[in-house]
Amino acid sequence: MKYDVIIIGAGFAGSVLARQFAEDNKKVLVVEKRDHIGGNMYEKTMENGVRVHLYGPHIFHTNSKKVLDYLKQFAGFFFYEHRVVGYIDGNFVPIPFNFKSLEILFDEKEANEIKEKLLKAYPDTKKVSILDLLDNQDETIKRFGQFVYEKVFVHYTAKQWNIPIEEVDTSVINRVPVLLGYDDRYFQDTYQYMPKNGYNEIFENMLNHKNIEVKLSTDAKEVISVDTETKKIYFNKEEYQGIVIYSGALDELLNYSYGPLDYRSLNLVFENKEENYYQPNSVVNYPNDEKFTRITEFKYLSNQIVKDHTTILKEYPLTYDYKNPDHVPYYAIFNEKNLNLYQKYYDSVKEIPNFYLCGRLAEYKYYNMDAVVLKALDLYEEIKGVK
Ligand code: FAD
Ligand code: UDP
Repeated sequence: MKYDVIIIGAGFAGSVLARQFAEDNKKVLVVEKRDHIGGNMYEKTMENGVRVHLYGPHIFHTNSKKVLDYLKQFAGFFFYEHRVVGYIDGNFVPIPFNFKSLEILFDEKEANEIKEKLLKAYPDTKKVSILDLLDNQDETIKRFGQFVYEKVFVHYTAKQWNIPIEEVDTSVINRVPVLLGYDDRYFQDTYQYMPKNGYNEIFENMLNHKNIEVKLSTDAKEVISVDTETKKIYFNKEEYQGIVIYSGALDELLNYSYGPLDYRSLNLVFENKEENYYQPNSVVNYPNDEKFTRITEFKYLSNQIVKDHTTILKEYPLTYDYKNPDHVPYYAIFNEKNLNLYQKYYDSVKEIPNFYLCGRLAEYKYYNMDAVVLKALDLYEEIKGVK
C-alpha cells in the first residue's frame, strides 16, 4: 500500500491524528514500537480479573467540551471525580490540601483562625498556589503555607524529581494547588469521566478504520530516517514525500546527536491482594516517609466488581537511563539545560516540510491526555490548512 501519512506512536497523539487523516480518505500507517496500541494509557487485565493501567494511573479530566465530545465517539464514559488523600502524620487527609485537611491536622481554634485569614486574604478565590502562600505577608498564613509545603510538597517532590524542590519548575508544583474550601476533588475541571470499559477500547475503535494500518513491535528507526542536512525523510530507504508525524522522543530519533535529554522514570510495582479493598481511597499519596510516592488501587478507578481480589500499584521514582531498554521516559525535566538541548533538536527538524511533532515526548511537555488530544486535533487542522 502507498501511504499518504506515516505516524509514529499509537498513543493519543498518534491515534487521533491517524483517525483524522483516515476520515479524510488518506491512507495511514501507524508504527508503534510496543506490542500494543494505546501508549501510556494502555490497560492490562491481571490474572485476578482487575484491570490496571500498565504505565501508571490515568484519570481523564478536561475543560474542553471539544475533547470530550471527540472521545465519546469511540467509547462510553462514566462520571468519575477523582479524589486523593495523603498519609500525613498518621492521618489520611484530602490532597489538594483543603479546609478538611486543615481541620484534621490543626486544633479547632487554630484551624478557624487560618481559614478566616485565608478567606479574607483571597476573597472569591477557590484555589491558591502553595508558592503564593509562602510569599504571603501575614505571619499566620505564611506559617500555614510552610506547614503544607513541608508536609505535602517538599519530600514528595524531592522523591519524584530527585532534586531539591527549589530546582523544580514552578509549573510542576502548581499542578497541585491549595483549596480554599471543602472541595476535595483532585482536579477542578468541568468534565471528569472514565472510559466505561477502559482506555483500550477507545484506541481499538479509533484505529479500526479501513484506511489505517497499524504495525506493532516496530521502532520508527526500522522504517524511517530523517536527514537533517538535506531536510528529507526516507521510508524503507526511499525518499518519502508524504506526511510524517512523530510522537516519540526527539533525542532518540536523532540518535542522541547532541546528547540525551533528561527524563524522570518510574519503577511501577503491582501487587495482587486477596482482599476486597486494600486502602480507603483510589489513590493515597505518601509525601514523606515511604520510598514510593503513591499507591493506586485500580478497582476504584474502573468501577469493577471483583470479589475478594484487588490490585495496587506503588510508584517508585527512578532516574531515566536511555541505554536501559526497561526504562520508560515518563516525565520531561524542565531546566535551562534540557530546554536548550530540546531547542537544538527541534531546530534541526523544524524546516523539514513534511515532518511534524506531536505529543508529550515529541514536544518535551508535561501534557495531560486532554491537552494531547487537543494538540492532535489542532495539528490536523493546521496540516490540512497548508496542504
Ligand atoms: P504516549 O502515550 O507516551 O504515546 C507515545 C507512543 O509512541 C508510545 O506508545 C510509544 O511506545 C510510541 N513510540 C515512542 N517512540 C517510538 C519509536 N521510536 N518508534 C515507535 N513507536 C514509538 N494525563 C491525564 O490526563 N490524566 C492522568 O491521570 C495522567 N496520569 C499520568 C500518570 C503518569 C505516571 C504519567 C507518566 C503520565 C500521566 N498522564 C496523565 C499524561 C498522559 O500519559 C499523556 O498526556 C499521554 O500519554 C500523552 O500521549 P502521547 O501520545 O503524547 O504519548
Ligand atoms: N506534588 C507533591 N505532593 C503531592 C502531590 C504532588 O509535592 O502529594 C507535587 C510533585 O512535585 C509532583 C507535582 O506536584 O511532581 C505534580 O503532581 P501530579 O499529581 O500532577 O503529578 P502526576 O500525576 O503527573 O505524576
